[in-house]
Amino acid sequence: PVDRSAEIQEARLKLPVLAEEQVIMEAVRENPCVVICGETGSGKTTQVPQFLYEAGYASGSGIIGITEPRRVAAVSMSHRVAKEMNLSTRVVSYQIRYEGNVTSDTKIKFMTDGVLLKEVQKDFLLQRYSVIIIDEAHERSVYTDILIGLLSRIVPLRNKKGLPMKLLVMSATLRVEDFTDNAKLFRTPPPVTKVDARQFPVTIHFNKRTPMEDYTGDAFQKICKIHRMLPPGGILVFLTGQAEVHNLCRKLRNAFPFRKGNTTTGEDEEGETSEAMRKFKKAKRKKAVSLPRIDLDNYSALPLDEGDEDREAGIGYEDEDGSDLEFGDDPAGAEEKADPSIPLYVLPLYSLLAPEQQAKVFRPPPPGTRLCVVATNVAETSLTIPAIKYVVDCGRVKKRFYDRVTGVSSFKVMWTSQASANQRAGRAGRTEPGHCYRLYSSAVFGDFTLFSEAEITRRPVEDLVLQMKDLNIDKVVNFPFPTSPSAEALVAAEQLLVSLGALKEPPRTGSVKEMERARLSCPISPLGRAMASFPVAPRYAKMLALGKQQDCLPYVIAVVAAMTVREIFEDLDRPDRSEDESSKLTQRRARLIQMRRLWAGQGAPLLLGDLMVMLGAVGACEFAGCTPMFCEENGLRYKAMVEIRKLRGQLTNAVNAVCPEVGVFVNPKMTPPTEHQVVCLRQIVLAGLGDHLARRVQAEDLLDPKWKNGYKTPLLDDPVFIHPSSALFKTLPEFIVYQEIMESTKMYMRGVSAVEAE
Ligand code: ADP
Ligand code: MG
Repeated sequence: PVDRSAEIQEARLKLPVLAEEQVIMEAVRENPCVVICGETGSGKTTQVPQFLYEAGYASGSGIIGITEPRRVAAVSMSHRVAKEMNLSTRVVSYQIRYEGNVTSDTKIKFMTDGVLLKEVQKDFLLQRYSVIIIDEAHERSVYTDILIGLLSRIVPLRNKKGLPMKLLVMSATLRVEDFTDNAKLFRTPPPVTKVDARQFPVTIHFNKRTPMEDYTGDAFQKICKIHRMLPPGGILVFLTGQAEVHNLCRKLRNAFPFRKGNTTTGEDEEGETSEAMRKFKKAKRKKAVSLPRIDLDNYSALPLDEGDEDREAGIGYEDEDGSDLEFGDDPAGAEEKADPSIPLYVLPLYSLLAPEQQAKVFRPPPPGTRLCVVATNVAETSLTIPAIKYVVDCGRVKKRFYDRVTGVSSFKVMWTSQASANQRAGRAGRTEPGHCYRLYSSAVFGDFTLFSEAEITRRPVEDLVLQMKDLNIDKVVNFPFPTSPSAEALVAAEQLLVSLGALKEPPRTGSVKEMERARLSCPISPLGRAMASFPVAPRYAKMLALGKQQDCLPYVIAVVAAMTVREIFEDLDRPDRSEDESSKLTQRRARLIQMRRLWAGQGAPLLLGDLMVMLGAVGACEFAGCTPMFCEENGLRYKAMVEIRKLRGQLTNAVNAVCPEVGVFVNPKMTPPTEHQVVCLRQIVLAGLGDHLARRVQAEDLLDPKWKNGYKTPLLDDPVFIHPSSALFKTLPEFIVYQEIMESTKMYMRGVSAVEAE
């Protein structure tokens, strides 16, 4: 029996999923696997674990496990469910990559999908669990897809062994055929239970024209108009990234500041003064990433019937002139008149935001203010923000792209899919009829793809292939993926793993066909097993596996941790700060450059290049106690440094587990490596990044001026370059290895380190 407060009980009764409790529990009782579809906000994540708990699924030895693709959701949902059930976080707990509050009393465990995948490696049958819920399956994250594939085999195995287990797959969209109509995955299609969303009508307003670049500016204009002219109700804005979110938050706070005495509530930890904000406004902002030019004349109008599906869901379409809002006759029929003097309570929301900051969006805004949440697509399905009446949608999403052959990656801002644009619009109709303002035309919308692709089809898969080989799944091609990665990607992964020594070489005998087949089903080697136990990509895992020599392990661990965490340095070219006095900025730049030079060392260490800078930064930061102040002063991203610290601890444990005799530990006062160790480190780095070798373009090949200072790689026709911020920008060694190539204005190598020319 669960003892819920009256208030919680009342809120629960309003959730559509509660009406389906009987149906869901009956489906679960009668089937090993069940799919549940329901609009975001219908109560799936918070309520279904409670149904299972109350039905006794956690009363025996097994517990209830729920996976989330995002850390944010795992943490915040575990807290919410504990609160709703009036249970301690010892009972309703979470586990994410670096931390968790799971105890021996835990009955409901929220975790990221990556955490559960690691557990499958330890115990293939997942005997601790009586139920696994895979949440947010519509996001089609790589680990979610793999887990569903694995569980499609684990559940029948468990049932055969007389240790019954249930699988629930939950999705915010009805598009679940990849799971249900997939005989390779589930021979008997799992039943689908639909939760009818109590969705209020949302009126869609398209722009007449689509702004090509400054959609943040366009969003700003739109929000100002909504706030000044439309009746009360929260505003939710969808942008593409953290930097955009912060820029818009600042602009909005500047435009609608809190009155005196009321200012503390709206400001977050940034604590900007209005002076700083005024200066910020003056500062020239760089233009947002541009999208390919789209010729609007080439679009036909959206045929009427194409909107029908949405009309059924209560969404109607209306084309709107981008310059105005029809606030005169509010279609929602609200009585209140807008009051321009009402302050706007502006909150940012994105994955990397600290949990305390994220939690603010769930609390009611201060009385007499209007809530405005500026979010990335975390707010699309993972988190439901209460009382949103207006959605402003830029229609874009930021995604990382990989070139399948060369591995070159780039972040691109691109159009989202129709399905996710409709998800975003739906956020406006949870509590009352709402409005969605799309900052693009209906013609452009008509050209969006219907759905987003599964992530697994869009990125390299060597890490997954290694994990699967470690589970003794040798023929990865035959794995029951909900959507399979491309054959090319699987071949590339297998080749890389063979070259790293993680898989056994395929035999070179037999017919061409046999050899071909053997090439795609190489078993894992003992080195591969060790590598698979390290929670980093195979190239880095190889470095860890070699790190024993010359007492290099602590350095290898620190470098690998730093290479794995993105963006550890503040960007020298785009300081995201409010001080725009050029003298101060120049001073700061000079200091940061000097620090990086210091970390790069002199003589032999210099050749380790950017990796030495990372090592120096990590060492110095840890020596100083990893404080926000040290990071701020030295141009390091505090969050990244904290993450590196946790990862160092985790990698140290993993290495000790594989190889207890090395007895490595995290030393906060690590001394710099000796010259001899640097030589050794360079060899280790080369062993991991051997396929990322580049050679400086030789004088005789310098036919084209664009090749000046360029490097040649085996796979690319065009030259790649050392970034000006690199420690080796001026040195230009003949041979180098790089961590990755990112394409921005040029193809730049990141994480460059010199290789001895022999
Ligand atoms: P779904 O998983 O179907 O999208 P959820 O179970 O996440 O739905 O949300 C159900 C309801 O619980 C929503 O109305 C949401 O606003 C509310 N809710 C979720 N988390 C919190 C929280 N931390 N504080 C207050 N309300 C919350
Ligand atoms: Mg949910």
